[in-house]
Amino acid sequence: MGFKRIFGELVKGFSRFPGVGRRSAERMVFYLLKMKPEEVKQFAENVQEIHNHIKPCKLCNNFSTKDICSICQDPKREQDTICIVEEPKDIMAIEKTSHYRGLYYVLLGSISPLEGLGPENLDIGKLINRLQKGDIKEVVIATDPDTEGELTVQYLIENISKYKVKIYRIGIGIPLGTQIEYIDSATLGQALLERKVIT
Ligand SMILES: [Zn+2]
Repeated sequence: MGFKRIFGELVKGFSRFPGVGRRSAERMVFYLLKMKPEEVKQFAENVQEIHNHIKPCKLCNNFSTKDICSICQDPKREQDTICIVEEPKDIMAIEKTSHYRGLYYVLLGSISPLEGLGPENLDIGKLINRLQKGDIKEVVIATDPDTEGELTVQYLIENISKYKVKIYRIGIGIPLGTQIEYIDSATLGQALLERKVIT
């Protein structure tokens, strides 16, 4: 492959990342060319590593290198509280606030009629299993404060209110139509502290 072709392929690759346009992608490739060989080697290994060894946690769907993620394995977390989020990146945002010490459950999606995504787009099987066991006392719903998040909340309430759990929802002070991952830590932390009882 000639330089132009390799360069073009890499630019195409980087352009596929969210928020990266063609110009930025070109700058990234030029930067790669300036990096030290060992740095590039480490970077390439990390890219492969994240793809080969990161898998969904068998209990909560969070990203993990093991079958069970580090949060689910942590005995210091409150074992009877579960916070439900749409995506693993939402866990990272909530962890940054340091205002939540329970466990998590990742739905791996939301309900979005506009995109033709119904409840089958959510993975709630493992959640229901855990609620059936009866160890969970409190559920904190932290879906995005937008239309999809709202529909997802309704669906969750319909499906989990029959179990003996207290259901809370975060949301106070969170601007509507936004996404958990983009809310600043202070606001998100406050929303977690001021969670509201639903049932
Ligand atoms: Zn887990």
